[in-house]
Amino acid sequence: MFLGCHLSSADGFRGLARDAVSIGANVFQFFTRNPRGGAAKPVDPEDVAAYLATAKERGFGPILAHAPYTLNPCSAKPEVRSFAREVFADDLRRMEFVPGNMYNFHPGSHVGQGAEKGIALIAEILDEVLDEGQSTTVLLETMSGKGSEIGGSFDEIRAIIDHTAKGARLGVCLDTCHVWDAGYDIVGDLDGVLRRFDSEIGLDRLRAIHLNDSKNPLGSRKDRHARIGEGHIGLDALARVVRHPLLRDLPFYLETPQDDLSGWAEEIAVLRRAAGD
Ligand code: FE
Ligand code: FE
Ligand code: ZN
Repeated sequence: MFLGCHLSSADGFRGLARDAVSIGANVFQFFTRNPRGGAAKPVDPEDVAAYLATAKERGFGPILAHAPYTLNPCSAKPEVRSFAREVFADDLRRMEFVPGNMYNFHPGSHVGQGAEKGIALIAEILDEVLDEGQSTTVLLETMSGKGSEIGGSFDEIRAIIDHTAKGARLGVCLDTCHVWDAGYDIVGDLDGVLRRFDSEIGLDRLRAIHLNDSKNPLGSRKDRHARIGEGHIGLDALARVVRHPLLRDLPFYLETPQDDLSGWAEEIAVLRRAAGD
């Protein structure tokens, strides 16, 4: 099973790989730059080589880069959209140093313009930054639908993909906390939720899972992650997610609140046991 968590390291890719190994992870997610935006450090080929060596030796699965939270492709402000376009394009260029991995972003908040306009703006930016030559799979993250967030329903994710001309290789990252908060009952009816995902988006688009418990009940539209087993989703339901025949071959990334690496090491061990891994 490919299971890991969101990591940050001051020591580049080699630091991320080292931390992943130390907690029993064989995948990880990381921010491409400061999550609040700002310049990214130049990619160091030696650092990439060190990471690739560890990844090969340890049989790592795909790593997942996460765009900064400040990236809002469907802002009403042109300067915010320009920032999104520049960061997105720059991140995708940098991702080619670690070819064949994935880049996840939040579709954005339409801030009062309406979902339809928001969806059109997101598709517009995607068509500007996506390029046939890229080896990176770009993932839209399912959101909780708080505020004016786009992506709180499978329909909206599907609409974004449908509106792109260059979206043939776009994928989706399903966040268990977000879909639960958006009202998809993965505790009571996981099969039903996956059937809906399949009919509205297509399971072939599903490439990654953010594995989180939720501090809030079904449909709360809050987006507050809880540790595995300490929220309203619970360990049993999350264990069914990692064991599900339609999901178990996907990479899972924990984004649970932890004080240090040992918290993730514990969750990874618990989930590996639950999955019979
Ligand atoms: Fe996210
Ligand atoms: Fe997430
Ligand atoms: Zn979240």
